[in-house]
Amino acid sequence: MDYNPLYSHASKVYGLPGFEPAVVDADYLKDLGVEVVPSAHTLEGLERGSSVFASRLAGRTLIPRTSFELSQIDPSAVKTEIHNYTGRCPALTYEINPVRGCGAGCLYCLVTDGVHEQSLVAYDNYHLYVRELLDRMNGPQSPNQNHYYYFSPKTEAFQEATLYTGIAHRVLMEFISHFERFPESQARLFVASKAGIRHLEYKYDGVSVLDLFQQLKGRMQFNTSVSIMPDALRDLLEPYTAPLQDRLKAVLACRERGVQANSALVQPIFTPSLTPDGIKDFFDRLHDAGIINYKPEFLTACMENLAMLGQYLGYFDKSLERQLYSDYIGPANADHLKQRGRTAPDRALSVECIHRMREYTDTLGMSVSICYWVRKQLGITEQDIPLINRNGFQCLGYQSRLF
Ligand code: SF4
Repeated sequence: MDYNPLYSHASKVYGLPGFEPAVVDADYLKDLGVEVVPSAHTLEGLERGSSVFASRLAGRTLIPRTSFELSQIDPSAVKTEIHNYTGRCPALTYEINPVRGCGAGCLYCLVTDGVHEQSLVAYDNYHLYVRELLDRMNGPQSPNQNHYYYFSPKTEAFQEATLYTGIAHRVLMEFISHFERFPESQARLFVASKAGIRHLEYKYDGVSVLDLFQQLKGRMQFNTSVSIMPDALRDLLEPYTAPLQDRLKAVLACRERGVQANSALVQPIFTPSLTPDGIKDFFDRLHDAGIINYKPEFLTACMENLAMLGQYLGYFDKSLERQLYSDYIGPANADHLKQRGRTAPDRALSVECIHRMREYTDTLGMSVSICYWVRKQLGITEQDIPLINRNGFQCLGYQSRLF
């Protein structure tokens, strides 16, 4: 099924004036002024990524096609996935992923490493699995269990494939019906989404996502997901998502409906954007939209992916590109790896960047919550950032007071 995206920057991705992909190799880095000398293995990754990037750009397969297949699931055969990538996540959280692939098409995607050549498959009857999962985990046998249901960690919950088909609406209606049947249920819906206002206002059968959210107030939270990078770069790297101002309008609309929406997933963070002005500009916008907590997460990227992201950043500012490579490719940082070999920025720099952000966000009264993996990697103590902070948020931005 072909569709018209609610937001699109595709023409910018394929029509960037004067942009020519290059090969990020030793000479390229030297000419750029990068002083750290990467290992041969790192260089191989950067070179490989450069050539894959050039061929995807030429073949116009860099970002998703605006189409999806509709399919059915066997609700009893879906593997129940617990969202616990670190092995020490504090909440028992079940995943809701009604689409295979993702139409948002982020070029740094944590799930696909920015590869969007596969076709999208949307599961039309996915709500039947959600019904079965809620009954099993928070039904008559276990109504008092505190469980989050995360919609959606592996895809965007509110994308065209879930909105135009009513899949997203049906998933939400399952939660509404669950609470009607089990008013005491301790199931809580955790939404992390790049949705803009157009997504949340989208009506299926005359009912908008916001209408359904309203019926779940007190039992759900909506956490917007926003990246720190130059706005023009965001348009390229998140080609089918809403601009920042529309995501913040979505946040405001949720709160107008009484829905908890005051924490943000701030990811990915491009370290070169964390200048004093960059930090102030970004967090002022969040603060003005009523965000009181944020979970920072730095860009993690395999070297293949980094070669593309660096070149796009360099299109706007070569000095930022130089800094990006310098922050990631040093041999001493080669073991700073998250899932599937994605490299995080230099550890000392990461700690400094967290301090830099906090120095400003403290003046706005904002709290911080962080992932267990980041805490461990960077040696951040519970005295520094408590497991549950003063506003009740922990790790991903789960609001503990929802229970
Ligand atoms: S919205 Fe999330 S899952 Fe979708 S492409 Fe972007 S990073 Fe990947």
